Amino acid sequence: MKNSISHIKNSLRNKKISVEELYDEFLIKAKSSKNNTFNLLLDKENNILSIKESQKRYENGNPLPLDGIPLGIKDLFCTKGIRTTASSKILSNFTPNYESFVTQKLLDDGSIFIGKNNCDEFAMGSSNETSFFGPVKNPWKNKNYPTDDLVPGGSSGGSAAAVAEGTCVASLGTDTGGSIRQPASLCGIVGLKPTFGSCSRWGIVAFASSLDQAGPLTNSVEDAALILNSINKHDFNDTTSSNHFREDYSNDINNKLDQKIKIGIPSDYLKDVSGDILSQIENTKKALIKHNVEFVDVEFKTTEYALSTYYILAPAEASSNLARYDGIRYGVREDGKSLDDIYLNSRTKGFGDEVTRRILIGAYVLSAGYYDAYYRQAQKVRRLIKDDFQRIFNDVDFILTPTTPNEAFKIGDKLDPISMYKNDIYTVPTSLAGLPGISIPSGLSTNGLPLGIQFIGNYFEEKKLLQIAALAEKELNFNEQ
Ligand code: GLN
Repeated sequence: MKNSISHIKNSLRNKKISVEELYDEFLIKAKSSKNNTFNLLLDKENNILSIKESQKRYENGNPLPLDGIPLGIKDLFCTKGIRTTASSKILSNFTPNYESFVTQKLLDDGSIFIGKNNCDEFAMGSSNETSFFGPVKNPWKNKNYPTDDLVPGGSSGGSAAAVAEGTCVASLGTDTGGSIRQPASLCGIVGLKPTFGSCSRWGIVAFASSLDQAGPLTNSVEDAALILNSINKHDFNDTTSSNHFREDYSNDINNKLDQKIKIGIPSDYLKDVSGDILSQIENTKKALIKHNVEFVDVEFKTTEYALSTYYILAPAEASSNLARYDGIRYGVREDGKSLDDIYLNSRTKGFGDEVTRRILIGAYVLSAGYYDAYYRQAQKVRRLIKDDFQRIFNDVDFILTPTTPNEAFKIGDKLDPISMYKNDIYTVPTSLAGLPGISIPSGLSTNGLPLGIQFIGNYFEEKKLLQIAALAEKELNFNEQ
């Protein structure tokens, strides 16, 4: 594929283009983008040293795995000396003096950051409309309403739209309840959420710590594997960083499947879906059956509880994590007559509506009178959801679902929280269970918009998961469509 990492690296190796020319090409394009995909574009001076070093490595014949590759970084990762805002007013003047673990790994592997991608405020949202920097526009258009601007999904909407519009080769996003997979699906690209604990959370602005996970948004499954290779490392600074065996995820990615694969399709996920969504699953089935893949119907017992569980636990953790933004230690401070007034004014003016709503819900479900009724209960249901997945994984290798219940919708169309939350119906259960999931583009809707399918694997089985996704990608051939 023309814009894949391996293709670009070949062009750099064969001197068809220099690292600096490549960077300039992307930067110029990013500067002229009308989709509001970046909160900040880096000055070329910031990168010139890295560009030169990268070029030297190509000339010496020893380039690093991501050498010279222009990346976008969701504005939720702390980047040393580069403003990091979480798309919030309260952090709009915050410049970290350290680099997050995962972005450091990307730098160590030679990649070059173009800028910080727009996202929902503190990663709360499914449409990138809650950003202090304004909404991101999906580069795709509904063919029946070509003048209307559509959402790119969220919260990593800037990342997904930037990859889709071609202003970065790949972007690093985060996924708490679907924020990598859902925007990837609405923008026609690949999005991988690794197993919880695979990639360190150190230096990522925290939303819900038991769910947050970094992962790639890319043009291809192979690119997702290459980025995963870089960021999937153990980190002593993150107590939930796992010590599991890590593989080369891109190696053998296109190998033929040597054993019979069984994939479960949850019938309860497909009950009320549109014909467009259903045909994504049907087409995938048809494409894979000829490759020794068997499909079976499976049924979850917990799906109907997943969203309410998530929307108790995620706000609870968020209300605790966001208590640190008091106007004193970080970010924007508003005046007040007393210390309490400063807290109150800074938080009232610094947070947007959705973030405020989550803080209120979170504080409520954690409060003494309601902790048992909501928070503890939701923790128990979370365990049942996890067990439900394991029951199904006793019988199948992967689970195949739609990524989203709908295509990209118009900006402003789903402003009530409940209809927005329903966008995450297929991604949230995986997050609650801590399992890995990947969304790949599978086809177009009748309105000419991209739709995605999601493969879910068992814990730390990213290698197999990427292989099956690569096979489906090849067979479905979305990019040719
Ligand atoms: N849309 C979900 C939410 O608003 C998921 C967000 C995310 O994964 N960061 O919480």
